[in-house]
Amino acid sequence: MKMSRLFAPTLREAPAEAEIASHKLLLRAGFIRKSTAGIYTYLPLGWRVIRKIEQIVREEMNAAGGQEIMLPVVQPAELWQATGRWELYGPEMFRLRDRHSREFCLGPTHEEIITELVKSDVHSYKQLPLLLYQIQNKYRDERRPRFGLMRGREFIMMDLYSFDRSPEGARESYARMQTAYEAIFRRCGLSCRAVEADAGAIGGSGGTHEFMALAEAGEAEVVFCPDCAYAANTEKAECVPPPAAAPSPSPIAAPPRAEVATPGARTIEEVSALLGLPPERFLKTLVYKGDGQYLAVVVRGDRTANEVKINNCLGPFRDLRLADEDDLAALVACGSGFVGPVDLPAAARLAVDSEAAVSAAFVCGANRPDVHWRDVVPGRDFPLSLTADLRLARAGEPCPRCGAALSGARGIEVGQVFNLGQKYSDALSARFLNEAGKSQSFYMGCYGIGVSRAMAAAVEQRGDESGIIWPLAIAPYHCVVVPVNEKDPAVMAAAMALYDELRAAGVETVLDDRPERLGVKFKDADLIGFPLRLVVSAANLAQGQAELKRRQTGDLEFIPLTEAVARVRLILEEN
Ligand SMILES: [Zn+2]
Repeated sequence: MKMSRLFAPTLREAPAEAEIASHKLLLRAGFIRKSTAGIYTYLPLGWRVIRKIEQIVREEMNAAGGQEIMLPVVQPAELWQATGRWELYGPEMFRLRDRHSREFCLGPTHEEIITELVKSDVHSYKQLPLLLYQIQNKYRDERRPRFGLMRGREFIMMDLYSFDRSPEGARESYARMQTAYEAIFRRCGLSCRAVEADAGAIGGSGGTHEFMALAEAGEAEVVFCPDCAYAANTEKAECVPPPAAAPSPSPIAAPPRAEVATPGARTIEEVSALLGLPPERFLKTLVYKGDGQYLAVVVRGDRTANEVKINNCLGPFRDLRLADEDDLAALVACGSGFVGPVDLPAAARLAVDSEAAVSAAFVCGANRPDVHWRDVVPGRDFPLSLTADLRLARAGEPCPRCGAALSGARGIEVGQVFNLGQKYSDALSARFLNEAGKSQSFYMGCYGIGVSRAMAAAVEQRGDESGIIWPLAIAPYHCVVVPVNEKDPAVMAAAMALYDELRAAGVETVLDDRPERLGVKFKDADLIGFPLRLVVSAANLAQGQAELKRRQTGDLEFIPLTEAVARVRLILEEN
């Protein structure tokens, strides 16, 4: 490809809305363009990267026994109503009607439709296991689409579905997929870690792991144990109750609770400063509304409530959200900063995090403006009828398996694997005849890889201030040939010859034949992230040499022109 013909409109500045490196760089380097919120066009360079990631995914899925199919984007509502997910998906689902007013959705995922397919065409255990996958667009009407390809409303995913005749078979499929995923991310040049996760709306009983590309810009937080194999996202990570978690009321030597004036001190930090007590001596009460019902969740002042655990323990809810000030006004006579568990109106279900359910004296809101209680003892001053693990885990806390202090990191979720059990096959009556001639439901698994997100994750993990640093395996092109002065016929002829030889040798090459200053060409080469750059100049030609630069390391070397192609081929083979 000649650069003068390549449709890769680069930008000097990223649009203001781009906050993270991958969003900025993919826009600036001319890989993607925004169509509307959370929906993007892939330009030629971006599409080449996507196609390469897809090809790696395809090869590994095929090697693991998968067969590629293509399911419809537009799916009938009835299938989703049968599994209850038409309601459960809520506003995240794009819905539409046809001319006969029949309801449809744009597929956010494909469990229902594939279960229906297999139900109608697979009847015997002899046809199992069956692993089917597709690479296709998915649609989720995110409340806040942002970060470019990281959280879009239309995105490209690979999803594989496994159908097995037994729980053991399903576990084998799951293990085979985990291994294949590790190979895919390694080949894509992504540094990934598998962590235990929450099954969310996909559901299923058999467990789930997320594959996290570790990166500062990641939206997910993970904890992992330096001593054992335990790793989980912080929503899922189990918190170990403190050793002294004997449930109150066991009397402690605390004086009766007393009021303390805290005018205008709404946040834990403000009250903490006012009273001169550390945040862990406070109880934070968060009021949620779940399907119209009030929930008051108490965690220690230095902790964060975990909505996933709240939903799993107290729900599930179709709609769980923090109560707004209007809701609070209807429940208690104060704003959110002064809510507390003592004498809380019965309309709110009270749930206390296990760490806050200990026999100790705390400070908490008094359900009146500008007043807190001090010396409040859980169990004595408010009931502990419901205590559970309801908070987010953090680095430094003990590992739930071995007790070592957990490490923390941020990650981008690029894949997830689910052992679904019989959730969908039961709901849709998808059954087959087993070895004993009896009818039974399939054991299913589903496995997703965010293809477009993996592209963004690669940029996050490896970019620098000059631009993108593509791993060779997914780079849009391997090499750019830069003639120093395209008006010099000898230079241009040598550059052209090199370009032709490289292409003939199977090296994906761009010739920067634009009448631009050398500085501009170098800047664009770094921005786009060509792994290899070959410079042909009159001075180099006089020596019979070309200059080779590696984008990743910045290393420069001079190589004989006659050996340039072999050298580049060797580098490609080594990777
Ligand atoms: Zn451990």
